[in-house]
Amino acid sequence: MIIALKQDASDDEIARFTAVLEQRGVTVHVSRGTSQTVLGLVGDTSGFDSEAIGAHHLVAKVIRVQEPYKRANRLFHPEDTRISVQSGTEHQIIGGGMLGIIAGPCSVESEDQIIAVAKAVKAAGASFLRGGVFKPRTSPYSFQGMGCEGMNLLAAAKKETALPLVSELMEIHQLEVFDEIDIIQVGARNMQNYNLLKELGKCSKPILLKRGLASTVTELLMAAEYIMAGGNEQVILCERGIRTFENFSRNTLDISVVPWLKQKTHLPVIVDPSHATGIASLVPAAAKAAIAAGADGLIIEVHNDPESALCDGEQSLTPEAFSDLMGTLKKYAEMEGKQF
Ligand code: PEP
Ligand code: MN
Repeated sequence: MIIALKQDASDDEIARFTAVLEQRGVTVHVSRGTSQTVLGLVGDTSGFDSEAIGAHHLVAKVIRVQEPYKRANRLFHPEDTRISVQSGTEHQIIGGGMLGIIAGPCSVESEDQIIAVAKAVKAAGASFLRGGVFKPRTSPYSFQGMGCEGMNLLAAAKKETALPLVSELMEIHQLEVFDEIDIIQVGARNMQNYNLLKELGKCSKPILLKRGLASTVTELLMAAEYIMAGGNEQVILCERGIRTFENFSRNTLDISVVPWLKQKTHLPVIVDPSHATGIASLVPAAAKAAIAAGADGLIIEVHNDPESALCDGEQSLTPEAFSDLMGTLKKYAEMEGKQF
């Protein structure tokens, strides 16, 4: 249930009203916008009479929320959520008109590789460096990532370029080595690993939650809800292509999910054109489409030598191709009234 308050409701009155509601067994999520305060009630509201609540002198409107996701629902929080990352001297924002451009290799492979890619993507204007060190591979015989050693190399790349870091966490105990990581990625394969999501709800870092290979939008939003219900409201959603009957591309980019998610949730929505297509030559068009569709950012694979990459070379852009794309994306961002 959502309770939109009248504009003249004072902080004291709101606090007293919230306490009365909470005594009835619900949690009240207070969202203060520039013009209106909205109360989001989470829990069992079946015993609440909308008309009786609507008659309260502070209340402008009562809405019953049909969707199972509450905290992620835009009705609960009408304004866009901005994810703010402070890393050393760098301050980056994703959402609310600010685009986050995350770029880097699928996997960290060596010090030379990650430093070279980090410098190149930074020079091209990326705001974050990506690099997997724990890799969820389809085959157990494929490169599984460098593990903890790769973390040290990511830290070195951060020291060199000041770029904040994004890396994938597969198991909760790996958090021990995630000190230098600024945004924790939950991969498509783990989107419904509810124990992992619950643990990340207790974490203070932003979570980049990728849509599962065959997950519906509601399932994605419910996965976000798991993290948010645990207390971590800093969730970035990522469309990375879904499984369909079509197999010319690695996955099918569900571009219309971007405006749909933007309507349904206040959380930032980014797109991964690399895993969505699996083909480097398709990545620029998919990236442009994502920005034109209203995405709040992109996560793009870039490798200094795609042909010898240990993972996902066929979908990785060269630093030159990435730099060209960034020039074009600036124009798309301007058209959308966004900045990066
Ligand atoms: C990745 O970003 O490297 C990755 C494994 O992506 P996904 O979980 O979307 O397959
Ligand atoms: Mn990859």
